[in-house]
Amino acid sequence: MSTHETVSRRTFITAVGATGVALGLSSLATGCAPQGSDESQALSNTSADDVAWTDEAEVVVVGLGAAGAAAAVAALEEGATVIALEAADQAGGTTALSGGLIYMGGGTSVQQRLGIEDTPENFKAYLTKAVGPSADTELLDIFCTSSPDLCAWCIDHGMTFDGDADETSHIVETPEGISLMYSGNERAADYASIATPAPRGHAPSGGAASIIDSLLQSAGAGLDIRFGTALSELVTDDSGAVVGVKAEGPNGPVAVRAGKGVILATGAFTNNDEIVENCRPEALSCRGRTAGPLDRGDGMIAAQKVGAAVRSTSRMTVGAHVYMYEGLPKGALLNHRGQRMLAEDWYGSFIGRTILENTLSGCFVIIDQTMYDEAMGCPYAAGLTNITSADSIEALAEKSGLNADRTAESIARYNEFCRTGVDEDFGKSPEYLIPIEQGPFYAVSVLPQDFSAFFTLGGLKIDGSARVINLDGEPINGLYAAGRCSCGIFGEYAGSGSSIADGLTFGRIAGQTAATR
Ligand SMILES: Cc1cc2nc3c(=O)[nH]c(=O)nc-3n(C[C@H](O)[C@H](O)[C@H](O)COP(=O)(O)OP(=O)(O)OC[C@H]3O[C@@H](n4cnc5c(N)ncnc54)[C@H](O)[C@@H]3O)c2cc1C
Repeated sequence: MSTHETVSRRTFITAVGATGVALGLSSLATGCAPQGSDESQALSNTSADDVAWTDEAEVVVVGLGAAGAAAAVAALEEGATVIALEAADQAGGTTALSGGLIYMGGGTSVQQRLGIEDTPENFKAYLTKAVGPSADTELLDIFCTSSPDLCAWCIDHGMTFDGDADETSHIVETPEGISLMYSGNERAADYASIATPAPRGHAPSGGAASIIDSLLQSAGAGLDIRFGTALSELVTDDSGAVVGVKAEGPNGPVAVRAGKGVILATGAFTNNDEIVENCRPEALSCRGRTAGPLDRGDGMIAAQKVGAAVRSTSRMTVGAHVYMYEGLPKGALLNHRGQRMLAEDWYGSFIGRTILENTLSGCFVIIDQTMYDEAMGCPYAAGLTNITSADSIEALAEKSGLNADRTAESIARYNEFCRTGVDEDFGKSPEYLIPIEQGPFYAVSVLPQDFSAFFTLGGLKIDGSARVINLDGEPINGLYAAGRCSCGIFGEYAGSGSSIADGLTFGRIAGQTAATR
């Protein structure tokens, strides 16, 4: 495919293609450095005077996952000319590998049609707790208040959500015919006490592929896409404003001038070992990392070289989806000290984070025979590989390297909660409070090496207009970012669907802002 070909949309869909494109970027060892470090500020970039431009558009979008596709469509609809650079040989990125859920609430048309009550305030109350105190409240506010409009925008741009609501199960896979489901901790007691639970995981018909397909169909022939073309660096003028990009295309280097702005949407840095090691070293002990091959942080690194600030780079989703294995959420999850530390029916990335941050060695879900049989009968049972059994809780603890007395105490206390129906320690839902008393008993290992790290949440610091912020707290002229190359609303991960929703929200804003600059 020619680097200059304007592509028909139908060819883009689905899985990420690893292109083998050699990128000119190396990771910044300062990925987690304190803001304002001398090392970050000393990094050089190319000045506009030294560049022989090969192409020009008003807006240049880098990366075509959910965030980049939304940015490109929004910029085109504001009347800008747009060139999109995509390193892979098709659009989609990690978005195309995902479950395709979009977390929207506050009274979307889909929620209304299905009789679900929600308001932007209720939505924000849940999210504020879920993403935690380090989240950007300005972005969170925009995200929540604009969510019903985002849903309408998705529908206007070809996505359909015409199935039913599933108000009972936990998210693992989207069941057939379901358009709306719970996908986080909405029903957990700690959360339900501050926000009325409402399902917000919107599943478009056709799944993740339909998100990219719908948006690129909406963009139409006006979107000039250069596949196999990887950003290598940003170009600035004398004032420090970003005025274009340099990239490696299939036929050699290109330099694209951006009359109005460059929007970075290159995704997470999950597969960049150097930055992950600096920012979230515990994640390296996970069984694997599930992410697109080009999740290397290219956009974040390039922007740091022109002085961009980053935030929350130590945040990463780790998928300890205990509830995937029927029976397991009825057990008691104990840390290496033999103590419970969470509600076992929590959303997987909440559990993963808690384990990653608190558990150095053995960490197990303790279950009895009935729960074990249930877990072994579930479709994902093959994923449970490290299981010990014994006839008594004390013997099981000893075999598993846990303190026998403390383990027995923890299980006795837990069983008492099961009998009263109230988990006084962590507020686990009553439906999962089943006493662990019919031996033999089993200890199912849930250490980081037993599950996968998914995607990094931190990245470029942006403001409510999706402008990238520099180390002095000022916007960098001409530079925008959205999706997982930015930090967006995170903090911690709020639940399935919130990454794509964040990318769509701020991608759309980036496109509109850059085009109307
Ligand atoms: C198994 C799995 C399931 C998931 N399920 C969900 C879910 O249901 N809902 C949800 O919200 N989130 C989910 N996520 C997370 C979510 O998919 C991603 O966080 C989100 O899609 C990222 O979107 P993005 O647009 O920022 O990046 P991406 O979709 O990764 O797009 C980035 C694009 O940039 C391109 N690129 C990278 N470097 C360069 C470069 N140098 N030059 C040019 N182009 C470049 C890439 O090729 C890619 O096409 C899931 C993740 C995984 C791994």
